[in-house]
Amino acid sequence: MSTDAVKRDENGCAAPLNGENKNFIELEIDKDLAEGVYDHVHTRFPPEPNGYLHIGHAKSILLNYGLAKEYGGKFNLRFDDTNPTKEKSEFVDAIIDNVRWLGADFGDRIYYASDYFDEMYEIAVKIIRKGHAYVSDLTADEMREYRGTLTEPGKNDPNRDRSVEENLDLFERMKNGEFADGEKTLRAKIDMASPNINMRDPIIYRVAHLSHQRTGDKWCIYPMYDFAHPIEDGIEHITHSICTLEFEDHRPLYDWVVREAEFEMPPRQIEFAKLYLNNVVTGKRYIKKLVEQNIVDGWDDPRIVSISGLRRRGFTPESIKMFVEMAGVSKSQAVNDYAALEYCIREDLKPKAPRMMAVLDPVKLVIDNYPQGQSEELEAPNNLENEALGSRKLTFSRELYIERDDFMAEPVPKYKRLYPGNEVRLMYAYFVTCTSYETDETGKVTVIHCTYDPATRGGDAPDGRKVKGTIHWVNAADAGTVTARLYENIIDEAKGVYDPETGELNLNPHSLTEVRAYVEPALLRAKPFDRFQFIRNGFFCVDCKDSKDGAPVYNRIVSLKSSFKLPKK
Ligand code: ATP
Ligand code: MG
Repeated sequence: MSTDAVKRDENGCAAPLNGENKNFIELEIDKDLAEGVYDHVHTRFPPEPNGYLHIGHAKSILLNYGLAKEYGGKFNLRFDDTNPTKEKSEFVDAIIDNVRWLGADFGDRIYYASDYFDEMYEIAVKIIRKGHAYVSDLTADEMREYRGTLTEPGKNDPNRDRSVEENLDLFERMKNGEFADGEKTLRAKIDMASPNINMRDPIIYRVAHLSHQRTGDKWCIYPMYDFAHPIEDGIEHITHSICTLEFEDHRPLYDWVVREAEFEMPPRQIEFAKLYLNNVVTGKRYIKKLVEQNIVDGWDDPRIVSISGLRRRGFTPESIKMFVEMAGVSKSQAVNDYAALEYCIREDLKPKAPRMMAVLDPVKLVIDNYPQGQSEELEAPNNLENEALGSRKLTFSRELYIERDDFMAEPVPKYKRLYPGNEVRLMYAYFVTCTSYETDETGKVTVIHCTYDPATRGGDAPDGRKVKGTIHWVNAADAGTVTARLYENIIDEAKGVYDPETGELNLNPHSLTEVRAYVEPALLRAKPFDRFQFIRNGFFCVDCKDSKDGAPVYNRIVSLKSSFKLPKK
């Protein structure tokens, strides 16, 4: 992580992805431009529409978009929908929405790999004509046997020397539906002895009698990922095809395909390390299970780091950009802490979010010397770090609510808040001194009594005396009540993400707690996605699904306390 990442622009937003220090991909691009390999930059984000995007995908989106923007180039959103079994249009819509929300502007540059099936077929025919691909009769099991191992070379396919004419005929018949699934494949003729297993005559087309969500029943053969992806890039004039490290060993095949396809300006693949978060579940398979078993409230549950979940929780695109920038772009695998993401949302919201008073665990405070039936208005700044947010009026009267843990009948050492005989400041209001308290039969405190000093209006004493504690409050007469949701990691961090024996997730039973909170009246009027700091309690965002007009539900995005430290350079 680099510390320059937390620079902000004049709006308090995270600085753009690329700071002064260029990452290795930018250096490669600079070189390509200087050597005239390309005269422009064109990138893409190529999701497979088989699930919701997560924080890792956000890195890929922002990286690809950021590079296009930095070099004055173009950025495509392309659905890699070459595999008809797992893909759904529900995912397509969510992905489009997520990418837009992150601010990666693809304009009308939205493409579907399935639109290129005809061209892919033609390219396969061209390669067969060159004698560089052949139709194989091997079954999947035989194929595995012939492939060899990491230490042993593979064996040539008995069909490897089929004539071009026979291959053209068989491939056409594959397309026409004359063969059953698995009966025939089209293989690239490369090198069965290659030390790179990906180059041992990989399959480039398979027979699959499946209906595709966009092309319907037009095709019963589908291209394999390693064949389709470079062609998609080539057709779209992508220059730099940026992907994650697991594709490094596939790069020779990528290069083989773009060479055989004879693109005028062949794209090049560059790999970077995936973004991983410690103790956080991102795998589609696991999240799907949580959704299906109703353990979470859909793919956008605020406890999930899907982009939709992060958004619903209250994260901003700026905070995600800042986080991705901090994580950096590298070739070596690292794991990032969720605490770093929390740091970014705090940094982003500190100057932006109004600071309001909400009491999450209320207990009544009665000011016995404040006249019964009287009330007054006090002025409170909305954000001391950002005057532009202005101020608001708060009503103050004899009965208030404060946090239960801001009072101790028998204070522990160094406790600075309210206890019998102690004086504290009620934020933006008065000094009060605790005189007594009442309890119920279980010993639970029900009412705290105090007296106030009218001379301390606004929160300062004219005689200069100081108090050690300042606590927040809401006025009992006009406070609203709202549901506030407090979150912990859905994973039991003490146990780690997965149970090594069962492979199941180790779930934290306390990942969601709902409380009824007393809040300032203004907080009742908030709209979905409005964000606030609840003073001393954290940053909260109005839930977009469960809130109603006048009855917002608040999700805690993050608490205010953090042990996270920016790493030194
Ligand atoms: P998952 O394994 O989580 O299902 P995926 O790689 O199968 O993800 P794709 O839809 O194929 O999902 O990914 C689209 C793009 O996002 C690819 O270019 C992929 O390399 C990139 N990507 C996926 N996961 C990460 C990650 N954790 N960090 C950075 N980029 C990622
Ligand atoms: Mg994938």
